[in-house]
Amino acid sequence: MSDTPTPGTIIGEVASPPFARLPDPAHLFAERAERFRTLAPGHGLAAYLLFLADIAETQARALTDAPEPTWPAADAIERSYDFHMPPLDRNGFVLDEAFTAVLSRVITGLGDVVMPELARAALGRLQSTDLLGRAVMVRNVLSDAIPAGAFAEHALVAAALQAHFARLAARLAPKRLHPAGDGVCPACGGPPVSSVVVGWQGAHGTRFCVCSLCATLWNYVRIKCTLCGTTKGIAYQGIDGDAGTIKAETCESCRAYVKILHQHTDPSLDPVADDVATLGLDLLLRDAGLRRGAVNPFLFGY
Ligand SMILES: [Zn+2]
Ligand SMILES: [Zn+2]
Repeated sequence: MSDTPTPGTIIGEVASPPFARLPDPAHLFAERAERFRTLAPGHGLAAYLLFLADIAETQARALTDAPEPTWPAADAIERSYDFHMPPLDRNGFVLDEAFTAVLSRVITGLGDVVMPELARAALGRLQSTDLLGRAVMVRNVLSDAIPAGAFAEHALVAAALQAHFARLAARLAPKRLHPAGDGVCPACGGPPVSSVVVGWQGAHGTRFCVCSLCATLWNYVRIKCTLCGTTKGIAYQGIDGDAGTIKAETCESCRAYVKILHQHTDPSLDPVADDVATLGLDLLLRDAGLRRGAVNPFLFGY
């Protein structure tokens, strides 16, 4: 064994993180599925976590050889880069052949999966929803306006949107993305699902917000509210007795919180899977009167 220090962990190293890191959909969902499976045994939400592992696998499979997505016009993308706007316009999203195929594959792919009764009923409703109805559900997800009582079927639509948008985001030019505002993904304008402190070489200990829709990571300084941008009144709440690698970053100004995952301590932490698995922390904070500021389709309706 060499006693040469590992690059990236040298004391005094100056971290120079990239502003944005794009998702790698070829691995993202498969790795997330594995993480859900690792978290499930002995967990109070085991059945649900295993179901979400199956959803993540379905997301991965849905992208294999999917039809070519409709790409925004080159001049529109250029303009977005130049004006520091998210190039993927979630508000102007129109269902194309690629997305329609991905959604159908997610629905079909879940047909044989073991799932809670509520999810089975939701899948049935989604199966019998026509294209127009599905387009309305897409709009609901993208505008964060999920009708009460229809959370489960919207979560499935959101899963298809995550796969599709990760695929689109992966094609952007990361060096041409710029901050689009607090709590706003520079690639697609989406809200964060959580934030991660990374252990990457050259960026060790820096923090990134993770987009709930397209899975792009954007650099965001630590001890600053990822929702409203204030640096005052920030505190950290964890669960007593756990590993201490996941905390809620709470903000006195907006009375909300987003979780922060210390991936530099535990590289297996996943921004979506570990968010669901730490629902206990959300319950604790709800009791304290704090609002969950992050968006995770698998916690819709919480
Ligand atoms: Zn995004
Ligand atoms: Zn805030």
